[in-house]
Amino acid sequence: MENRIYNVVIIGYGGMGSYHVQLIEPVQQLAIAGVYDIVDYRMELAAAAGYKTYASLDAVLTDQAVDIVLIATPNDVHKEIAIQALQAGKHVICEKPVTITSADFLDIVEVAKKENRAFTVHQNRRWDEDFRIIKDIISKKNVGELFHLESRVQGANGIPGDWRQLKAYGGGMLLDWGVHLLDQLLLITDSQIESVTATLSYILGTEVDDGFTSFIEFKDGLTAVIEVGTTNYVKLPRWYIKGTEGTAVIRDWDLSGEIVTRNPDVAHVEPKPIRAGQGLTKTMAPPSEESTLKFPIQELTAATESFYENFVSSIEGKAELAIKSEEVHRVLVLIETIFEAAATKSVIQRTI
Ligand code: NAD
Repeated sequence: MENRIYNVVIIGYGGMGSYHVQLIEPVQQLAIAGVYDIVDYRMELAAAAGYKTYASLDAVLTDQAVDIVLIATPNDVHKEIAIQALQAGKHVICEKPVTITSADFLDIVEVAKKENRAFTVHQNRRWDEDFRIIKDIISKKNVGELFHLESRVQGANGIPGDWRQLKAYGGGMLLDWGVHLLDQLLLITDSQIESVTATLSYILGTEVDDGFTSFIEFKDGLTAVIEVGTTNYVKLPRWYIKGTEGTAVIRDWDLSGEIVTRNPDVAHVEPKPIRAGQGLTKTMAPPSEESTLKFPIQELTAATESFYENFVSSIEGKAELAIKSEEVHRVLVLIETIFEAAATKSVIQRTI
């Protein structure tokens, strides 16, 4: 039997909406049926790229040929478009952050259940190579038992664009990049969160945070520093993880980095003191070469199923959605907790 083709319409043909074309087109069972954007110029670009343009959201939702709606608008209108599309009988994929509050997200989930339609969020960074490698290092215990993790993204270009600088649109870096890093973090351990502290930065003087640092403790003892910055002219590594047997670093998306571990075959070698500034130290001397092993960061084979392939499998009942509602909800609750911790300058002790 021929595979069924599902028609996708892209709502919001801006930076990310137009990028989705590259993700949808390679999937055999998907076809781009058209585009809708509230800005004429964006519609002209879509038409120039050869896509049908719809005159209104209503025109998309009443088109019986449309199976899937992809929402790639600014964050503030995700909820209303998602609910309307689900009620019109469409399956829906929504860009991150799916909603600005966890309560709004639950409203969408309820409608999706009632309408028996698939609904998921484009947490695409679960497929990022650096994240998959870190997860692999941790699960194979290449650094022993993980006890500390630092995950950062840092730029020096400020908050890009327009709506990302405005609160009413769901702007700010915690919602924008934080949602990716926190989603990844919660997939690294099965443990629940025990406490959260955080600071948000407003260096650029906009009405939304231009970065944040959060310190998160898990019940199993794992600690995590999650950081997003937009005023960092020199970057810290993308990943830095410590385990009982070693340390791993991935510096950037080019996957530069290494794993350094204790050499189990060599008895402890007393470090030689080094000159450090105006003093001497043994404590901070590098470990001796013979007592450590150094491994390169190894690339992994590509993920077996892409985000969109998984979505098709799930609407055909052949697989579970890769991005599950409970996971998305937990990340949003964590984001709300980080906002609360920063606003109250306190340690929030809460099971998440
Ligand atoms: P953008 O400003 O480049 O594009 C948004 C588009 O939506 C614009 O063309 C705008 O005219 C249109 N639009 C606004 N309101 C609309 C409405 N009510 N109906 C139809 N169209 C409407 O923004 P962007 O950077 O493409 O971000 C869009 C979404 O994608 C955001 O939710 C953002 O967080 C997300 N995003 C995700 C990733 C990722 O890696 N997953 C990367 C970038 C952006």
